Amino acid sequence: MIYLNGDFMPIEHARISVLDRGFIFGDGVYEVIPVYSRKPFRLVDHLLRLQHSLDGIRLQNPHSSEEWRTLLEQIVVRNESDDQYLYLHVTRGIARRDHAFPQGVVPTVFIMSNPLLAPPNGLLATGVAAITASDNRWLRCDIKAISLLPNVLLRQMAIDAGAMETVLLRDGFMTEGAASNIFVVKDGVLLAPPKNHLMLPGITYDVVLELAAGDNIPVEVRPIAEHEVRTADEILLTSSTREIMAVTRVDDKEVGRGKPGAMFALLYRLYQEYKATVMRAGTSAYP
Ligand code: PMP
Repeated sequence: MIYLNGDFMPIEHARISVLDRGFIFGDGVYEVIPVYSRKPFRLVDHLLRLQHSLDGIRLQNPHSSEEWRTLLEQIVVRNESDDQYLYLHVTRGIARRDHAFPQGVVPTVFIMSNPLLAPPNGLLATGVAAITASDNRWLRCDIKAISLLPNVLLRQMAIDAGAMETVLLRDGFMTEGAASNIFVVKDGVLLAPPKNHLMLPGITYDVVLELAAGDNIPVEVRPIAEHEVRTADEILLTSSTREIMAVTRVDDKEVGRGKPGAMFALLYRLYQEYKATVMRAGTSAYP
């Protein structure tokens, strides 16, 4: 069951005008929110980032936080799995094709849910392969825009190379993955690129930094040079749907010893413990 512009319906019944500016221009933003045991995880953060994305494209938020919360809860109860991921999507609505913003148009709001499957144990044990590529996206990567063509092409390069993710390099520095944030580990220090217009401010990225601070893990948030990626002891990728995974090969070369390392093991455990703690707290949404 999905939500589209005021109605709940089976996804097969959902219809959108071909003049929707999401379809014509990719003129919209989205969020992906994990749900564990039927509770949205870090919902406040996701709704704040949605607001940041909407501000970035100068589109008024069609709903208050309370309204979003209610809509998302209704989607969660109408779908089967206990663990889901919610995809919510707002476009500038339907108008005659013209780049200029239309006046008085109602935004399109779409929410769907899919089962959230944990990464297979095999991949957690071996880690995943990545390739590197030049980051050829625009300069507002902090906006979670639905126009994802560069990300699609960059991620497909990884798939074509038999890898899982593409690590992006811009002007000699690492920005993020095509669909994830990337951390580097060197000599026991967790290195994280600073949040700016060149990367998506990941919610999982924030959780990882909070967990690291809470466990006194040495952290440096600073630009990470390409050679630091290539000589890393460990590389980690994070996203709402993949949580934390170890990247154990980059461009066909082993990262460190070519196996998930101690930092991955520690942060993975802390992440699972954190999830379990907030689940026990019994609120309707994870904080
Ligand atoms: N960067 C990009 C480009 C992404 O698409 C994503 C999400 N898939 C992330 C980072 C990770 O963000 P989050 O932890 O909020 O899912």
